[in-house]
Amino acid sequence: MSAPKNVDRTPAYLARERRTKIVKRVRFICILFAVLAIATVFALLPYRRMLPPLPIEAREAGTVRLHFLSVGQGDATVIESSGQCVVVDAGGGGFNETNHIIRYLRGLHVSAPVFLTTHAERDHYGGMATLIQTFGAKAVYLPVLSSEDDGYLAISEAARAADAPVLTLTRGDEIAGGDVRIVCVSPAEETGTDKNAASCVLYLETERVRVLLGADIPATREREIMQAAKDGEVGNSVELDEIDILRVSHHGSDSSSSEEWLEYLGAQVAVISCGAGNRYAHPAAGTVERLSSCVGDIYRTDELGDIMAVIGRDSFRMIAG
Ligand SMILES: [Zn+2]
Repeated sequence: MSAPKNVDRTPAYLARERRTKIVKRVRFICILFAVLAIATVFALLPYRRMLPPLPIEAREAGTVRLHFLSVGQGDATVIESSGQCVVVDAGGGGFNETNHIIRYLRGLHVSAPVFLTTHAERDHYGGMATLIQTFGAKAVYLPVLSSEDDGYLAISEAARAADAPVLTLTRGDEIAGGDVRIVCVSPAEETGTDKNAASCVLYLETERVRVLLGADIPATREREIMQAAKDGEVGNSVELDEIDILRVSHHGSDSSSSEEWLEYLGAQVAVISCGAGNRYAHPAAGTVERLSSCVGDIYRTDELGDIMAVIGRDSFRMIAG
């Protein structure tokens, strides 16, 4: 009786197996080349120049608009008025977030605006260098405390390449904002090392409407600013106790927005910039509670997306979603 034939090892089977292996190898090499080709195209093409503008209604003459952009867990605010556009912070630099800011600014027909970084934390400066490279810049304001991070150092490089002056604001300094007055109310002379505390806090004023952009300052700095305001030391004719719109400090963290601060400012509307489901659980329940009892309406970018404040001569309205 002869031994059973091994059907799996016939020459025909081995040839088939070899062919299958070769096909698999060729397919793998093709996919690898395709991935490398796509990556090369993305790296070499200035694809951000091709990003289309978002459809945004044109600003009515005589109004000032504030745009609180939805950039996840970060901050990016645009101050738009006739003859001037100031971009305050640039989100954390994530691919989608930076592209969103670029498309939004294109929708506003922005060219060479003023850029300002409130403080050297990534969720505020991450997209800044790319924005300067994309739009050019009239001037670039950097915070008093810097960072050694490459992404932060790239901002100065981008400003140099755009031939824009690099400046710093401290208490009482003003920047030209077209129809809106923009005053830095903090920091004064910075002696600490806490970047959040050293954030640049901006007071905006049109004829009758006042706004405070609280950056990421903690309650200790809120107290210091309040005292300086009571002593008349936060800038010429700054009415800090008559705020209409407040950009809530530090994304609604519990260590900011003390009851005393909120009551002093007297804001009618609070805007919180934070990412949906962020790992810091911002805004804190306690902050939301304090805002609910001290301020009128609360607008959140994690719930509403981009938020716009349209400011007229003596009134304003909020638009969201
Ligand atoms: Zn922040």
